[in-house]
Amino acid sequence: MISYIPKKVYYEKEVLKYEQGLEIYNRYKNMGIPTIEISSHNKIEELRQLPDKEFTNLKKYLILGIRKSLRLIPNDKSADFIVPFTSSGCMAMCTYCYLVCTFFKGAYLRVFVNREQMMQAIKRKINKIGEHKVYELGSNSDMVLENVITGNLRWAVEEFGKLDNATATFATKFNMVDDLLDSKHNGNTQIRISVNPHEIIKKVEIGTSSLDERIKAANKMYRAGYKVGINIAPIILIKDWRRNYKKLIKELHDKLNKEMHDKIFFELIFMTYGYANDIINKEAMPNVYNVFDKNIMRPKGRGKYCYKQDIRNEAESYIFDEISKYFPYAKISYCV
Ligand code: SF4
Repeated sequence: MISYIPKKVYYEKEVLKYEQGLEIYNRYKNMGIPTIEISSHNKIEELRQLPDKEFTNLKKYLILGIRKSLRLIPNDKSADFIVPFTSSGCMAMCTYCYLVCTFFKGAYLRVFVNREQMMQAIKRKINKIGEHKVYELGSNSDMVLENVITGNLRWAVEEFGKLDNATATFATKFNMVDDLLDSKHNGNTQIRISVNPHEIIKKVEIGTSSLDERIKAANKMYRAGYKVGINIAPIILIKDWRRNYKKLIKELHDKLNKEMHDKIFFELIFMTYGYANDIINKEAMPNVYNVFDKNIMRPKGRGKYCYKQDIRNEAESYIFDEISKYFPYAKISYCV
């Protein structure tokens, strides 16, 4: 398991004008963690110059900054709007991580301390639209992991609890949800627990919580009154994927709170693998399990690969069948 105490903290000076920024900065400084001033979280020259093989070390750093762009982006999958929220990047090292395709070796955890401004942007949107919409808070990070450092997820859940016409949603591969259980969420927050077969979590989703821990977190959140969904993502067609995904869905059936069975919804997302992932993995984690299989994948846009259509169709129909066998009343919200 990864440590949530960073090895170094890089911070924009402006951050110290914010109560939260100052508190996080002082917390780690007082622990003797090196703190290094930077001009911008987007331009950390001393990190940019490091070779790709330093990726796993970079993941141990925490960057504190101010988020400039507060524009909500329309979406038609997990939410109506993607919110640029309080973090980007993560301390874990899933070998397919989509953030590596955007940030390359800079996919480390950045925390933005101007959370009030982000919440104001959400409220402006809610007032403008005047009807119920769903807002995705964690599309660029894992909010449950970030919450361990900042408490921002609990804060956001309680802020959404005071709102009409808005549901907050986030997906997670972590189990540290205890801080959320007694929050005043008012039924306005939905959690999507992201799952995969044991073998994939162990070999590929490095530094995340185990399947058992994630299922227990789903049960706790359900008992605490949250809306709970299951995000099977990304689906990775390893050699014996049928057996693995069948076992996963049966395990969900056996271990998820029975009352939840006909209320939960599923989201299915097939893996996209980037050329950037390949470079970083080969340099920084040369012995890691290789999820890229050129025999069953095809190019998808620039520098990315996805499963060939016939292979994917077969897997999609297999997984749909297994879900309907074990969860006949559950909805599959989307499959991409
Ligand atoms: S948990 Fe999410 S953000 Fe973190 S490394 Fe894995 S895929 Fe990337």
